[in-house]
Parts: sequence; C-alpha cells; structure tokens
Amino acid sequence: MKVFKFGGASVKNADAIKNVARIISLYPNEKIGVVISAMGKTTNALEQIASDFLASNWNSFEERIHLLEAFHLEIIDCLIKEKNNAIFSEVETIFTIIKELKNCQQSKSRAYYYSKTVAQGEVLSTKIINAFLIQENFKSKWIDAGQIIKTENKYLEANIDWLVTENHFLDKFIPEFRRNDILITQGFMGRNQANELTTLGREGSDFSAGIIAYCCNAESVTIWKDVPGMLNADPKWFENTVKLDNISFREAIELSYYGASVIHPKTIKPLQNKNIPLYVKSFVNPEKEGTTIHSCTSKDHLVPSFIFKENQILFSVSPKDFSFIEEENLSDIFRKLSAMDVKINVMQNSALNLSIVFDKQRIKLPEFLEIMGESFIIKYNDGLQLITIRHYDQATIDELTANKEVILQQLTRETARFLVKMK
Ligand code: ASP
Ligand code: MG
Repeated sequence: MKVFKFGGASVKNADAIKNVARIISLYPNEKIGVVISAMGKTTNALEQIASDFLASNWNSFEERIHLLEAFHLEIIDCLIKEKNNAIFSEVETIFTIIKELKNCQQSKSRAYYYSKTVAQGEVLSTKIINAFLIQENFKSKWIDAGQIIKTENKYLEANIDWLVTENHFLDKFIPEFRRNDILITQGFMGRNQANELTTLGREGSDFSAGIIAYCCNAESVTIWKDVPGMLNADPKWFENTVKLDNISFREAIELSYYGASVIHPKTIKPLQNKNIPLYVKSFVNPEKEGTTIHSCTSKDHLVPSFIFKENQILFSVSPKDFSFIEEENLSDIFRKLSAMDVKINVMQNSALNLSIVFDKQRIKLPEFLEIMGESFIIKYNDGLQLITIRHYDQATIDELTANKEVILQQLTRETARFLVKMK
C-alpha cells in the first residue's frame, strides 16, 4: 500500500482535482491511502469564520460562509455530472453545521470551536474528491479520519494516541482495501476520547500522511507539491534553486524544523521509525523524479540549503535582581514559555541575559510582557529576519548577509544562523 498526500494548492479548483485523478490513474493496480487538505485557502477562511463566531461578528460570519459555500458549490458543479448526486446535499449539511455555530452558547473553549469549525475544510474536500473519483470509475471510498485518528484532549496541535490509532487502522482502514483501491481521508484532524474534533496544527496534513503510513506499514509516502521536490531554498526568494534529489530523514527534519515549508516537521519521525521512504513530487509534472527522503545519508552535504524566516522578534530577558542566567532562572523562563505555548526559533545566553527569538505572529505581546515581566527585565526588537544555512560556506554567508546588520549569530558544524536587520 502507498500513501499519497495532496495539499490545498493541488486541489484548489476543479481542474486541479481532475489532475489529482490523473495522478492516481498513473498508479493502476495499487492500493492507495489518499490524505487530502482543505481546498485552496479554505482553512484561512474557516479560521476567520471561527474568529467571527467567537467575536459575535455576525455580518462578517455570514458573508464569509456564503463565499466559502459558493466556492465549493462551483467546484462541484464543474466536476459532478449528475445533479442529483448525494454530494450536493452532503456539502449543504456541512455548511449547516458551520452556520449553526451561531445558535450555540460559546460555553466551551476557543480552541474547541476553532477545531470544530476549521476541520470542516478537510471534510468538504475529501467528500467532493471521493464523489468525483467514484463518478470517474475509481474504486474509491471516503473514510472518516475522526473515527480512526485518536488524539489527546487538547484541541490544537493535539498529540496522537498512537496505540489506539494503530489499532483503528488495522481494524477499520486496512480491511477496506479488500473492496476498494483508493481510500480517501482527511488530513489535519482527529477526534479525542470524547469524540470531539481536534486539529494537528497548521499544515498538519503531511503529518496525517505520516501517521497513516506508520500505522499501516505502507511501502512509501508521496507528498504532491507545486514545486519539483525539496529545494535548497525557497523559489520565492531565489532564482537559482537546486533540487535536493536524495536526502536523509535527519536532514529533512533539520530543514523543516528551521522553517523550510515543504514538509511539516512532525511528518518525518513516524516514517523514520519504520524506515518508510518519503517522496516529494510535483503535481504539475508527476512523471518526473522529485526528492527522495530516506535513511541514506551520503549525499546530504553537497549543496548548502538556506531558509529565511521573516517577521521575527528577539527578546532579551535578564533577571531583575541582577542574578545570573543559570539553571533556576532558565527553568522558570521555560516553564512560563511552555505555559504560553510559544515556539523558540533560536536562543543564546550570556551571564546576565537570555536572548530568545520567535515568530512575531505566534506571540501575544501584552501577555508575554506581563508574564515574563514579573521577574525579568524584558527588551525586544522586531521586524527581523532569521537566516539559516545548512552546510554553509563563507561565500554563501557573505552573499546572504550582505547589506544586513547581524544582530545575533550561531555557528555549529553544519548549521549557521543569522538574525539580521535590513540596513
Ligand atoms: N488545511 C490545513 C492547513 O491549511 C492543513 C494542511 O493543509 O496541511 O493548515
Ligand atoms: Mg492547507
């Protein structure tokens, strides 16, 4: 069995979905578990709908739902020939669930409503694509990821209950391949013990593909992208990018951890643990070789790779009582950071000061200043850019830091990182 993952860009309109069917048809006689994200920018729209609901912005809430429904209906209209196909009413039912939020009391947490709303994007896309594949004579079946992928009770970036999930795959997923060739399921979502919807973190559908492959002992995973494979840099920034043909699991984790946006960083671990290769391939040129990520390590060092993260904020944290930054202070700082659910991109310390860098969007500044300000003097500097170079050489460093003021730098044997400001 193979696992395929199609992201939002690969299913953004009717033509893109026809292309997905074409790609699947290139693999006749295969059993394929297909994980799909929400179509195009649907997740962003649903996030805004959830915020409108939480803020009781009803005009905007209704307007956005209307636009999103029209977007989906237009796609089905292009794809589905039989106008009495059940998919039309199924999509209407999903939008009714979203619209009915308006009648609920907001008695639960924001995160609960977020996941309940935002996960519907994947339910919509998978139902529509499954209906289309059946119309096109594929032996395809829609599988509810919520009945199989079980998570802890946290609603956002929920951790997987691996044991239960693996048993569900063995009992409820794999047997479906007896009568079907293609099993279509939702990325990004699961359900907790109370059967409430939970989400795995933005861009988490890659991780869903990793979970399925791990639990089903798949022979491989293919992530279909709008780029030819994993590149040594983001083509948004650089003209002359190089495709990485073969990289190790370790290198892929390092690159995605530092911010290469091609694969979600959590995807690799389950694949590495069972030695399942991951292919990153182009949905535009599916016949072409993409990148193979596997246990081989010999080719990792040939090309420097670079990753830019924009909109970084640097905090400098020093104890108010002039004490050193040592174990006790550090554990206090990290406990507070962990309670705020923030992710550190870089850190560095001196005797009296800890420097920590975050994505500015992920920080609630007033909350941060209040909580950390209890025991520490906090200074910050924003509008910064974080440059990471794997397998660096001096020429690459000079090129990437030219005309920039370096505010903090860190070099290890394989990775150079520069926090910079435009001059
Ligand atoms: N649809 C979700 C998102 O846009 C999950 C994913 O695409 O992987 O974040
Ligand atoms: Mg997406």
